[in-house]
Amino acid sequence: MKADLVIRNGQIFVNGEFFEGGVAVKDGKTVAICEDRYLPEAETVLDAEGNPVMPGVVDTHVHVRDPGHRERGTFVTETKAAAAGGVTCFLEHPISSPPPYSPEILRNRVRVATPQALVDYAFFGAAGAEFPDEVEKVAKEGIVAFKTFLHEAPEGRDEEFRGLTMANDGEMLDGFRAVAKTGLILTIHAENNDIIQRLIRQFRAEGKVGFEYHYKSRPPITEIETVAKLLMFAKETGTRVSFAHISTPEAAELVKRAKLDGMDVYLETCPHYLFLTEEMIDKYGPYAKGNPPLRSRESMEKLWDYVNDGSVDFIGSDHGPFLVSEKEKGMKDIFTAAAGPACIEMTLPLMLTAVRDGKLSMRRMVELLCENPARVFGLWPRKGAIRVGGDADYVIADMKNEYTVNNKDFVTHSRDTSPMYNGFRLVGKPLHTIVRGRIIMKNRVIDDSAEGWGKVMLPGWGSGRTA
Ligand SMILES: [Zn+2]
Repeated sequence: MKADLVIRNGQIFVNGEFFEGGVAVKDGKTVAICEDRYLPEAETVLDAEGNPVMPGVVDTHVHVRDPGHRERGTFVTETKAAAAGGVTCFLEHPISSPPPYSPEILRNRVRVATPQALVDYAFFGAAGAEFPDEVEKVAKEGIVAFKTFLHEAPEGRDEEFRGLTMANDGEMLDGFRAVAKTGLILTIHAENNDIIQRLIRQFRAEGKVGFEYHYKSRPPITEIETVAKLLMFAKETGTRVSFAHISTPEAAELVKRAKLDGMDVYLETCPHYLFLTEEMIDKYGPYAKGNPPLRSRESMEKLWDYVNDGSVDFIGSDHGPFLVSEKEKGMKDIFTAAAGPACIEMTLPLMLTAVRDGKLSMRRMVELLCENPARVFGLWPRKGAIRVGGDADYVIADMKNEYTVNNKDFVTHSRDTSPMYNGFRLVGKPLHTIVRGRIIMKNRVIDDSAEGWGKVMLPGWGSGRTA
């Protein structure tokens, strides 16, 4: 057999450990994992130069604003950013304009993404109180999970939040029941909006609109209380829930206890809650603004315990492209700035540096970034691991050379909004990214001709279902 692609001279990560050798790819699948001397002939040979060859990252939390707000980035620009970050598949969350709360909107998004994307992707559906009858239809159309927010649309963003909100407890209970019937996971942005809005009103009335009032208006209790309540709703309704971007160890502890009680519940955190503190908001203001906010150093360090003990299931980037002008608004009044960092390119280098520094094991890192996302959201065993028969999605990262982060080097269209990591010294910069056997990025150069190579992923690949 002549393979399409062979990668040799690598440290291949298989079954939780590295071994020296290579992989062979035919028709987009991994067909051999072996020592170099057993590798077949191939059309293309890539030398990994002794670097780790890992499964491509499956990012559980990415926002692409296409088609609603293409000025913030498109499926072309943001999937190129994904490739630059070693992400070979991502799960796209509403907010988008409009959010996919109906099969028609979902189909349109797939139509928009198909000719553009360089890496694979799957969609979350929107679940809200406004269109309860659509929930089951969207589920059948082909999504990996639902997402909901527990507040009304922020000022001026009605269209982006349409059909995506459960704004009070009554709506939540109904919404949970509707999602429970589909058997899909409901992913929740868990912050107590009543507390937040009251604090914002009070601070504004006192003229307190400086940077620090972002985190002061969203104290840890807003997340902790909401997680506690939602766990009760999940238990009552039998809904499988996943908590998006958890920022506090207290909330992680609640989810851990729910897991110990046997609940089907999942926990996501993001790199910024593990590597950045609220001092970054003092320094960068709106550019470091995200919801929930960055926390204290003590809180950040404690969150690592839950990463290591298995309570955290996955680490998603919460990549959220915006315009500089949408961030700059917050220089005068932090509450008016758009919330979200454009950071899909940071996850892997940050986490690989943490591995080098002994903060977690490589095995745990691959679980958090690749394996668990694929398993929990129905893309396993096609995605999430290097295995014979699985998609040939790999990232080869440079573990030998440190580099200094500069957001000007980012590929995302929104690079100018994410300076928070500037000056960080990291290893693990992705060198080559391979999606279903095609080299999308080689030596940091992205192959522009790969636009449209990315495919929409549907859960249940084992059953042979395709888009
Ligand atoms: Zn998000």
